[in-house]
Amino acid sequence: MRDYVIRGIDKKGTIKFFIASTTNLVEEARRIHNTSPTATAALGRVLTAACMIGMTLKNDRDTLTLKIKGDGPVGSIVSVANSNGEVKGYVDNPQVDLPKRPDGKLDVGGIVGKNGQIAVIKDLGLKEPFIGYSNLVSGEIAEDLASYYYHSEQQPTAISLGVLVDTDTSVRAAGGFMIQLLPGVSEEDIDRIESILKSIKPMSTLIDEGLTPEEILKEIFGEFQVEVLDKTFVQYKCNCSMEKVESILVSLGNDELKAIIEEDGKAEVVCHFCNTKYNFSKEDLIKLLR
Ligand code: ZN
Repeated sequence: MRDYVIRGIDKKGTIKFFIASTTNLVEEARRIHNTSPTATAALGRVLTAACMIGMTLKNDRDTLTLKIKGDGPVGSIVSVANSNGEVKGYVDNPQVDLPKRPDGKLDVGGIVGKNGQIAVIKDLGLKEPFIGYSNLVSGEIAEDLASYYYHSEQQPTAISLGVLVDTDTSVRAAGGFMIQLLPGVSEEDIDRIESILKSIKPMSTLIDEGLTPEEILKEIFGEFQVEVLDKTFVQYKCNCSMEKVESILVSLGNDELKAIIEEDGKAEVVCHFCNTKYNFSKEDLIKLLR
């Protein structure tokens, strides 16, 4: 099954939902970055969230960046998504791992850390990007993001993000959902959703059992009248290029470029998102200087 996200709203117009199936793109991220199982789960959760939030972007060039920086050993986790369903990401220290928690789950909160910040950056092509911050709650990503929505966007949101890593360390299943309560939602509907979410199986289990986002929608909203407004295929894709890397080198300024030419005589730039290496000889750098 290809990865995709559906998004929609209930007929009363008071509950928005996003449901994502992201197994392939999280496995692609693991392959590119050679992440440990716990780092795979951490990065996979952030990529899955970025896919869903990326659905709210309107224009082709808009981008959504999720950045999580806790005090744990994995360092920063960054993911960037656009409105075309392309997502990419990285972690500072992909090899970091911890023993599983007593409940058998990967200790994502342990490698991310409880103390730190989550930043949501929406670049909508305006002069300044929109940037919202909030403090981390647990480092487990979904809770941190829900807290961000509550405190920074005053938006009550239920979020579940799941990555199941197989015994051979590949990604067996990944996905997530986001449910947002809009003004005017009834107390009764809130209670119903709360009790459904308490009884539903973990997201990674549902995906592993072969359920599609539409089928998961039925599991959650079976009693509600809902409408799917959009379905977008999502994939791991980096859009770096020689031209973009050249413009980054040029933006360092003449003095910095001259120093690189004199001290190193060459430059190698590695893309954080896809690990592609761009090599510049002395002649290449002199050309850029002009
Ligand atoms: Zn790249």
